Amino acid sequence: MRDLRVSVTDRCNFRCVYCLPETDQAANFYRSKFDPLKNPTPIKLALPPSQPKSQILTFEEIERVVRIAAELGVEKVRLTGGEPLLRQNIELLVGKLASVPGLKDLAMTSNGFLFNRKAQALRDAGLTRMSFSLDSLDEANFKKMTGREGLNEVIRSIRLAKQLGMNPVKINAVVIRGLNDHELVALVRFAMAEGVQMRFIEFMPLDSSRGWLRELVVSGREILEQLSNHFTLEPVVSTQPSETARRWKVNGTESEVGIIAPVTEAFCGHCNRLRLTADGKIRTCLFSLGEHDLRGLIRGGADDATIQRRLREIVWGKEDRHHIGESEFEQPERTMSCIGG
Ligand code: SAM
Ligand code: SF4
Repeated sequence: MRDLRVSVTDRCNFRCVYCLPETDQAANFYRSKFDPLKNPTPIKLALPPSQPKSQILTFEEIERVVRIAAELGVEKVRLTGGEPLLRQNIELLVGKLASVPGLKDLAMTSNGFLFNRKAQALRDAGLTRMSFSLDSLDEANFKKMTGREGLNEVIRSIRLAKQLGMNPVKINAVVIRGLNDHELVALVRFAMAEGVQMRFIEFMPLDSSRGWLRELVVSGREILEQLSNHFTLEPVVSTQPSETARRWKVNGTESEVGIIAPVTEAFCGHCNRLRLTADGKIRTCLFSLGEHDLRGLIRGGADDATIQRRLREIVWGKEDRHHIGESEFEQPERTMSCIGG
């Protein structure tokens, strides 16, 4: 396990349809189009309750877990959420983590809306890599997908991250049939023009209203076919088997596009990720049905050796693979914004 995703909050200022849909209309956005007969009953809107502050790990607690994980071999940490920039003084946590011995890579995934306010402080604290979620370049479609108006703020944030010398800056887009699958080429062109890397992600069954349908997943293969009609794509050979994205160079340039296809081309066998939720649970897979509590240990006065031992035990129990698409698949109780994507 080399890669630890740390969720710093389960709260978010966006309401993406594939993550935290806010209205019945958003939660049922696909019903009439794709599944009028199989599921005649509209799904119920379910916004997960946010955890009280006392249950959320403090920066000192997060730093301790990261330090212990780094001693065990974790090299990469990505801060995520919910929306990580909603966590007050997040730059202080970045500063603490930037000096953890053994950590080679510190990154953040954000929806970008609040990045402008914090960008310089985050850079100064030692953050060098940013991924922004951007599913659409059309204002109306952006609002439909995120539940908010904020396209211009996100674009400004992407530009600012580049200006501050963050490298690489990536854009993540979740691709949903009938919603933004007509924007793939425009998104790649935008990323090329801005000098950032584009990543397309298959829609996974982790939305809070449990509205995921197979029919809505645009497969990695379809994404590639669509892009291949417009660009010359040359595969990038990765030296890291654990990499989740398959990547291509675009039109002989240094611009890269990546496709993350956990649903149709599972990469579980090479997975080297662990997740720490905002309330201090370790998850060994996005789709884990169980979690392992560290907060109780930490707050109960456990020493570092005990926490190390616990982490080792947890890792030995990591599941072999997920079961999306199989009859026994069960969607985890906690959904993406609570787990940390
Ligand atoms: N709020 C931040 C953001 O949106 O970048 C960080 C947290 S978000 C949960 C992390 C990533 O998960 C984002 O790139 C988002 O697009 C992705 N995501 C959320 N729900 C998803 C789903 N159901 N399927 C695939 N990706 C999803
Ligand atoms: Fe918030 Fe990120 Fe989920 Fe969108 S994907 S609702 S921005 S946590």
